Amino acid sequence: MITESRPRIIARRAEYDRSDQMKTLYIPGNHRLHALAHEIESALKAELKKQVQTACNSFLEEAADIFHVPQPKVRVLDARPLRVYETGSSELFGDYHEDTALIRVWMRTAVQKRVTSPGTFLSTLCHEFCHHLDIHGLGFHNTYHTRGFYERTAVLYHCCRGTPLRRLVWRSVPGNRWRIDWAKMRQPRQPK
Ligand SMILES: [Zn+2]
Repeated sequence: MITESRPRIIARRAEYDRSDQMKTLYIPGNHRLHALAHEIESALKAELKKQVQTACNSFLEEAADIFHVPQPKVRVLDARPLRVYETGSSELFGDYHEDTALIRVWMRTAVQKRVTSPGTFLSTLCHEFCHHLDIHGLGFHNTYHTRGFYERTAVLYHCCRGTPLRRLVWRSVPGNRWRIDWAKMRQPRQPK
């Protein structure tokens, strides 16, 4: 995971910095996100696209309710689009269209058409929902991939999966960007 560069245009920096510094998300305890994420997982494992679509709709309805934002539309699609470059290729896992508030998420890998793992699929869905939340709930005009954005996404994701939240460790890279330092994150915690 790597952040976007801090904007060169000074007027945009304040918003980027606000997003960067907003590292958590308040999620009240009495929600159904965990159960609804489980429904997505079951439908995905059964490879039932219509059920995945329905489960995603219910999940986003609940998420929108929690954060008091309009519900985004969602379209579940089959094989991920593949973008080929001279140096390699990359797959598109999901995206969010600001103008239409539409989330698209793909449920199969590009080449072998295997079903996406539940963790990857849900992580993508949470990521795209957080773009929607930036615009409709947190008052951002632009939804940047900042450290804060990834931290907020992680809070939502771990809440849905019922897994413990790990602190993300970042290191700065050229171009005013930050990259997750996986090596440091894998180090065992110091005993207290
Ligand atoms: Zn994104």
